[in-house]
Amino acid sequence: MSKSVYQKKRDFSKTTEPKGDKKGKRGKRPIFVIQKHDATNLHYDFRLEINNTLKSWAVPKGPSTNPDEKRMAIPTEDHPLDYANFEGKIPEDQYGGGTVIIWDKGTFENIRSNEKDEVINLNKSFKEGVLEIKLKGKKINGGYSFIKMKSGKMKGNWLLIKKDDSEADARRKPVNTENKSVISAKTIKDIEND
Ligand code: MN
Repeated sequence: MSKSVYQKKRDFSKTTEPKGDKKGKRGKRPIFVIQKHDATNLHYDFRLEINNTLKSWAVPKGPSTNPDEKRMAIPTEDHPLDYANFEGKIPEDQYGGGTVIIWDKGTFENIRSNEKDEVINLNKSFKEGVLEIKLKGKKINGGYSFIKMKSGKMKGNWLLIKKDDSEADARRKPVNTENKSVISAKTIKDIEND
């Protein structure tokens, strides 16, 4: 079996991250996870289950609940589905060295439709660089758009934008105020001190 980009970047004798050799369990709804990652630069890894893998973006500022704030989302390599359960320390000399917590996790619905109101296949939308999804997490809920930039200096990067729906809230700023893991209730600091 040939190694994926994810596997090539990592030495699994050193990191406790999943090896990516298991078939992930599939639920009814696809999953999403947002991992807060204190590496060289603190960022939020936003991952969506698409086509049996976790499509991934590094979002330096994390998701906003304000529809007027566009957040830069830099695509990174696909991660195996069981990566959604990973939190812990990655050794400093390894790829992505630093600390990871599961900042939010849940399921999502593909809400992108055509003019006939038919839902457009998620993988097709990903390839087209336009995703419209409705998240059901513990911190982040409601509609979001992911838009790939096709020209300009930021070509190839995506923008993550909150849809203006009932879950939109310009004042909430969850990235600043909600800093615990939704799985362990630990902060990045707690894991570092473990
Ligand atoms: Mn990361």
